Amino acid sequence: MVLGIESSCDETGIGIVAGSTLLTNTVSSSMEEHERFGGVIPEIASRAHLEAMIPALDAALADAGLTLDDVDALAVTSGPGLAGALMVGVSAAKALAVATGKPLYAVNHLVAHVGVGLLAGGGLPEAESGGALPEGLGALLVSGGHTEILKVADIAGSVRLLGATLDDAAGEAYDKVARLLGLGYPGGPAIDRAAAEGDPEAFRFPRGLTAGKYMGSAEAPGSHRYDFSFSGLKTAVARVVEGCEARGEEVPAADVAASFQEAVADVITAKAMLACTENGIDTLLLGGGVAANSRLRALTAERCERHGIRLVVPRLSLCTDNGAMVAALGARLVAARVPPTGLGFTADPSLPVTTVSVPA
Ligand code: ATP
Ligand code: MG
Ligand code: FE
Repeated sequence: MVLGIESSCDETGIGIVAGSTLLTNTVSSSMEEHERFGGVIPEIASRAHLEAMIPALDAALADAGLTLDDVDALAVTSGPGLAGALMVGVSAAKALAVATGKPLYAVNHLVAHVGVGLLAGGGLPEAESGGALPEGLGALLVSGGHTEILKVADIAGSVRLLGATLDDAAGEAYDKVARLLGLGYPGGPAIDRAAAEGDPEAFRFPRGLTAGKYMGSAEAPGSHRYDFSFSGLKTAVARVVEGCEARGEEVPAADVAASFQEAVADVITAKAMLACTENGIDTLLLGGGVAANSRLRALTAERCERHGIRLVVPRLSLCTDNGAMVAALGARLVAARVPPTGLGFTADPSLPVTTVSVPA
């Protein structure tokens, strides 16, 4: 049984996993406290983790009907994420490790987003969830802090970063565009709702890094073939809004939202299909908070089907940040007999995705 602790951004999460079975997943979010600022304020997030950590731990153990004695190992997100936020989880995990004498794994948050999809009920067919990793596994992680395509040869050790955003993460772009349109925070759900009433072809917004020189030929691949850029898109939306205001016209928010959402979904899925077909990926796991987006889900499903790629989408509560993902990855590490990290590590805000768990 592995207990996982997550605190990399604005969610304080405790999850407990036995093998591939999820026993509990307790999440407390400080999202509402950031609302009036229109984005996560690191100091507020850290303070909220501090207040939520012990209650979340108690609630998780109570929910699962367990005590710390039942737990065999501990896992904690040590990066990437906000330094102060990570530090709260890391300190809590170290304190628990010292107090209980249980082994501690410092794990990568991004790989944990993949690990959660391997739990029973995580999206894979039941027969495959607990066992060996599906061959040709890739992950498309789309969240407030990350937009990345990974190839996962071995979840306990070998993860390769195929592509990532050069500027804003997709969720960040959603939040910024929602602010431009006056739709509030968090922007993703607000744009998703507004877009339902709009025309996705009303505006042809730029698709960053998709010109021929970036994606043209597999024989002569351009650089940034699988990378993303959303800053041009965000600027294009700002221009439309400014233009309307200058002319004294009302901003067609629903049309802008729908067209923006279409551009994001188009470019993410086009790049993902390219990365999958060129890197032997035939099972693609979709994760991160933006996986909640209705258009991204639909277009990913459509394009995966066209390319013969199996799509795995964990249920939404497992896609956003939580402790179960950390516990799930911890359980995989235990099963693969990876030595625990111990206490000699610190939070690393820019932990590379290739470091699945911090070596002892
Ligand atoms: P990270 O996981 O990278 O550390 P994070 O905690 O900000 O960062 P998540 O909690 O996984 O990321 O996701 C939050 C993001 O998801 C926000 O940017 C939010 O706007 C976006 N989001 C949520 N629902 C939707 C939706 N329906 N459509 C688009 N974006 C959405
Ligand atoms: Mg979050
Ligand atoms: Fe995350």
